[in-house]
Amino acid sequence: MSVFSHREFDNHQQVAFFKDKKTGLKAIIAVHNTNLGPALGGCRMWPYATDEEALTDVLRLSRGMTYKSALANLKLGGGKAVIIGDPHSQKSDELLYAMGDFIQGLGGRYITAEDSGTSVADILKMGHRTSHISGVDSATEHGGDPSPSTAYGVFISLREAVTYRLGRANLEGLKVAIQGLGNVGYRLAEYLYKAGAELYVTDIVQANVDRAVRELNATAVAGDKIFALDVDVFAPCALGAAINDQTIDQLKASIVAGAANNQLATSAHGRRLHDQGVLYTPDYVVNAGGIIDVYYQRKMLSADYGAENYATDLSAKVEGIGATLKEIFVRSEAENIPTFVIADRVAEERFNKASNHWQPTKPNAPGATQSYSKLA
Ligand code: NAD
Repeated sequence: MSVFSHREFDNHQQVAFFKDKKTGLKAIIAVHNTNLGPALGGCRMWPYATDEEALTDVLRLSRGMTYKSALANLKLGGGKAVIIGDPHSQKSDELLYAMGDFIQGLGGRYITAEDSGTSVADILKMGHRTSHISGVDSATEHGGDPSPSTAYGVFISLREAVTYRLGRANLEGLKVAIQGLGNVGYRLAEYLYKAGAELYVTDIVQANVDRAVRELNATAVAGDKIFALDVDVFAPCALGAAINDQTIDQLKASIVAGAANNQLATSAHGRRLHDQGVLYTPDYVVNAGGIIDVYYQRKMLSADYGAENYATDLSAKVEGIGATLKEIFVRSEAENIPTFVIADRVAEERFNKASNHWQPTKPNAPGATQSYSKLA
């Protein structure tokens, strides 16, 4: 298995492999870039078929975190962790403690959070052995769940795109099709409803659709019909690759703005949207509210940053996503280059300009009172 010449390596600063015979832990931590600050990203647990598959995933995801945090204007770098194993049958407290030891060994260069296959409770268990955890603040209004902030960021983004593309000052009567009414999608629907938008919704869970029809006066739509609706905005808030060979030609919306990760099946689909005159709001810019929330939750762990700062700083930063998007839209139009390409360029300009100023923190002894390293 090659590492430095791996197709996803892309100048990662550090890739660490860890195996613990006693607990069966096999894990990889990838730190893509720490120019803007310590690398923050979730810890995924997944029964990867091969080590190669796990390495590919961790490298791809950690690079994505560098771009996402840079575009969210956070003083964070990008990193990610993967545990190779089945979260249902192979997870134990001892394995999570061992993972905590692994993270602690990196001295704060990487900060972990929940992801697919891990929960807030799992991260808190890792926190028995490491102070480098985040997104676990039960004192916040939503108990550490970043979805409300993600939904707010998607709403801000959608509004920015509507102003830019449709020249509308408000969302009254705007037609929006939402695919997926989960933690983020439903809250987005609530924001839009309050702003006077007309909603068309689909979800594979009928109860979610029924609720939106009842509470938000939404129109229920069959799953595969959501793409071809004559609406202003299509908001993918379910799974990845919503924009693919089967759906792209059906779209009538002039804006795509939603929460889902990896909405474009391939970059060719992003180019086609651009050529078709559809304004695509790059997913990782739009859904950064969650990482912003996690960042401020972690700041609260340091003694001199209180809950009163959290709420104000959080909403200001999430609202800042709008300004970043506008910069991307303007450059995309001026240079006739798709928005997702411009987004990558803006991120690269930001993190390449920064000097590597992340400094290691003094490690805590296992079991000692934890002191959390300060975030800038
Ligand atoms: P969720 O699991 O709570 O909601 C997803 C919803 O989509 C569910 O209600 C599910 O039933 C529905 N769904 C699944 N497949 C569908 C299909 N084929 N058609 C219609 N509906 C379908 O997840 P979430 O937390 O709301 O996240 C939504 C998306 O946003 C995901 O892609 C996630 O990776 C991304 N995201 C979420 C956050 C966050 O803070 N939660 C942050 C960044 C990105």
